[in-house]
Amino acid sequence: MKNIYFDYAATTPIDENVFKEMSPYLQEKFGNPSSLHFFGQEAVFALDKAREKVATFLGANEREVIFTSSATEANNIALLGLLQGKENPHVITSSIEHKSVLEPLNASKAEITHLPAYKTGIIKVEDILREIKEETTLVSIMYANSEIGTLQPIKEIGEAVKKINEKRKNKIFFHTDAVQAVNYLPCRVDDLGVDMLTISGHKIYGPKGVGALYIREGTKISSIFHGALQERGIRPGTENIAAIVGLGRAIEELKKNNKKRTKELRDKIINTVLSEIPQTKLNGSRENRLANNVNITFKGVEGESVLMALDQEGVAVSTGSACASHSLSPSYALLAIGLSHKDAHGSLRITLGRLTTEKEVDYLLEKLPPIIKKLRKISGK
Ligand code: PLP
Repeated sequence: MKNIYFDYAATTPIDENVFKEMSPYLQEKFGNPSSLHFFGQEAVFALDKAREKVATFLGANEREVIFTSSATEANNIALLGLLQGKENPHVITSSIEHKSVLEPLNASKAEITHLPAYKTGIIKVEDILREIKEETTLVSIMYANSEIGTLQPIKEIGEAVKKINEKRKNKIFFHTDAVQAVNYLPCRVDDLGVDMLTISGHKIYGPKGVGALYIREGTKISSIFHGALQERGIRPGTENIAAIVGLGRAIEELKKNNKKRTKELRDKIINTVLSEIPQTKLNGSRENRLANNVNITFKGVEGESVLMALDQEGVAVSTGSACASHSLSPSYALLAIGLSHKDAHGSLRITLGRLTTEKEVDYLLEKLPPIIKKLRKISGK
């Protein structure tokens, strides 16, 4: 077997219906939505339709959705746009957020509190409540972690923040990066109690280079970009119509995700690896994790060596997030949940998707044990 993909958390292939719907907007329907003639109006129509689809999925108003060039850009706009102009703001986030949340916060002048994620990889609502103070302006907690797949109690946080807001003058805004959650979890913004929510096209069988940000009516986001008035001036720049059309269609195709089946295959991998390969450990909560995420430490081996050996067998896995793969340091999310540097280096992320078959899972489970055995022998462990 060749070309087996177990890295769906890094990116996904474009769904065929998404591709079909996008295609005309790359050639014959090429208009700029800011143009007044019919080419432009055709693009406006497509843009409005896609916005309606995203808004419907989120249970939001179309005016509350803006399109961006990525989830990274959406996170930057949400966080920096909200903080801009605020005096001595305080932000509560977690130590396992994606870099596109952590880095803009580091670059801001805000005081940042990074909450622990414990061994389970799950933050505690009471930790948020304890850290809230007068200056707290923003809470940003991801819905599902990209590396260890753990699910955060977003609804509970939303309820807790709402209760606190009822008793104070200066509102605390609640943002969630839902990029990894969209495939498997409900994302209606009122149910979650969020003021801002980020999604990305390429994690949900849509195109790369497109994202969306939900901004609740009444949430003031200052422009961090300066330009024309596209996307209410919050994200100026000519809209990538084909990609936006793709994102809208990808949302409609989410029904193709078979959560139950994916979970069964995920559990087959977890159970087989833990029972058949000695000295292995699942990272993050077993119960509260994404249907498609497996993250396992293999004591005494380098994750990179396992990745390369599996690559030779035609199987693609990951040692962590794709954007950190050029760095030699181990995953900060794994360190944050208490792994030693050594164990973090010996960890593998296996993420499943819509196209994963049982045959592929069996092939992985056939190839993995002898690879670990061989690598441990070489390293004398
Ligand atoms: N947030 C999370 C949780 C992610 O997993 C990713 C991608 O890995 C991003 C944000 C960034 O998404 P994009 O590639 O659209 O910038």
